[in-house]
Amino acid sequence: MNISFDLDSTIIPNGDEFKTETIGWIGKLFKVEKIRKGSKDLILKLQNDGHKVNIYTTSFRSKSRIRRTLKYYGISVNRIVNQTENQKILKSKNIYSTKYPPAFNFDVHIDDLPGVKIEGGKYNFKTIIIHPSDKNWADIIINELKTI
Ligand SMILES: [Mg+2]
Repeated sequence: MNISFDLDSTIIPNGDEFKTETIGWIGKLFKVEKIRKGSKDLILKLQNDGHKVNIYTTSFRSKSRIRRTLKYYGISVNRIVNQTENQKILKSKNIYSTKYPPAFNFDVHIDDLPGVKIEGGKYNFKTIIIHPSDKNWADIIINELKTI
C-alpha cells in the first residue's frame, strides 16, 4: 500500500507530547527536528513489508528540509507533499478539504487530527488516527493496516 504520514503531532512533536528518538551532537549542531520514538522502526518495518511510505503535511516546511530531517534518522520516504503543493493540487481539483490523499495516490493516511477522519468519511478516503498520547501507536497502525 501507498501510506502517507502527517508530520506535526504524528511524527514530529509539538512540545513534549511524546517521547522522541535520540539526537547526537551532529544533529543538535544542525538543529535537526525531534521525531517520535519508534518512527524509524515502524517506517522501516512498513517498507520491509512492501509498503511505500510518504509524508503528507499541511506544514510549509520545504521538502528538502523534511527529507534531511528524516535522513538524519536513517529514514528515506517515497514522496513528500507539503502545504505548498497540497494547496496547489487541491485547488486545481476544486477540493475543499484540508487533506485529500487520493490526489497523490495515497491509499491510507495516518494523522493525529480527528477532523481528517471526518474529511475521509466525506471525501471517501481511508485514515488511521493516532493520538499523540497513544503509546502503542506503532502496533495500532500495523494492526489497522491489516484490516484495510
Ligand atoms: Mg498533525
